[in-house]
Amino acid sequence: MNGKPVAVITGASRGIGRAITLALAAEGYDIVAIARSLDSEGMETLGPEVEKRNSDFFPIGLDISCTACQVEVVKDILDRYGRIDILVNNAGVAPLQRTDLLELSEESYDRVMNINLRGPLFFTQRVAKEMLWLKTMIETYSPKIIFISSVSAYMPSIRRAEYCISKAGLSMTTEVFAERLTREGILVYEIRPGIIETDMTARVKDKYDKMIEEGRIPQKRWGLPADVAKAVASIARGDWDFSSGAVFEVSGGLNIRSL
Ligand code: NAP
Repeated sequence: MNGKPVAVITGASRGIGRAITLALAAEGYDIVAIARSLDSEGMETLGPEVEKRNSDFFPIGLDISCTACQVEVVKDILDRYGRIDILVNNAGVAPLQRTDLLELSEESYDRVMNINLRGPLFFTQRVAKEMLWLKTMIETYSPKIIFISSVSAYMPSIRRAEYCISKAGLSMTTEVFAERLTREGILVYEIRPGIIETDMTARVKDKYDKMIEEGRIPQKRWGLPADVAKAVASIARGDWDFSSGAVFEVSGGLNIRSL
C-alpha cells in the first residue's frame, strides 16, 4: 500500500480541474487525473507538471456519465494505490446551446444532468463505500469529498436552466452525502465558483466582461481557476476539518444579496 495520500480529480485536463490537480500535487498528494479522454493536449501536458511537484500521476479516460464504466476505474485506482484520500467531483459541462427555458429540449436536459449530477452522484457513492472500508484498514486516514457546484445552484439563468438545475441538485447531493458520511469520519464539502475564466466561459466572455464593468460582481474581476484551487488546497490541508457540510463561495461576492 502506498504511503502518500491520493487525490482523485474529475475534469482534470483543463480549467478549474487542472488548477486543483496541480494544487493538490503541491500539497503532497499522488494524483489520479480523470478526463473524458486521455487523448488531449491538456492531459498530455498535465503529467510532467504533476511529476515536477514530486507526485505520481495516473491519468484515466472516463466519461463520468457512464456509471457502469466507473466500477473498473475505482478498481484500477485501488489496485495501483490501495487508497483514495480525497475525491474532487469537478467535471461538468454547460449546455451545448443556450436556449430559453420554454424551448429546453429533453436531449440537452439529459446530457447535462447525466454529466453534472447523475455521474458524480454514483461515482461518489462507489468511492465512499471504498473510503468506509479503507477507514478500517488505514490508521491515520482522513478522507474527504468535495463537490464543485456553482453559484448557478441558487442563481437562475433562464437560458441554461438544465445547468442551474443540475448544480442545485449537486448542492443537495453534498448535503445528503455529508449527512450520511460525516458521522463515519468522511468529511464532505461544496465549493460554489462564480464566473471563472476557463474554456467553459470563453464563448460568453463579452457578456461577463460587461457584468464586471457594470460592477455586478462586487470584487470587480474574473475569477481564476487558482482561486478555486486555493479553497480545495485549504480543505485538503485539513484547515476545515471541523466543518463537514460547509459551502464555500468563490465568487467575488456574487453571493452578496443587495436591495
Ligand atoms: P472546462 O474548462 O470546460 O473543463 C471541463 C473539464 O471537465 C474538462 O477536464 C473535461 O474533460 C471534463 N469533462 C467534461 N465532460 C466530461 C465527462 N462527460 N466525463 C469526464 N470529464 C468530463 O470547465 P471549467 O470551467 O473548468 O469547469 C469545471 C467545473 O466547475 C464544472 O463542473 C463547472 O460546472 C464548474 N463551474 C465553472 C464555472 C466557470 O465559470 N468556469 C463556474 C461555476 C462552476 P475533457 O478535457 O476530456 O473534455
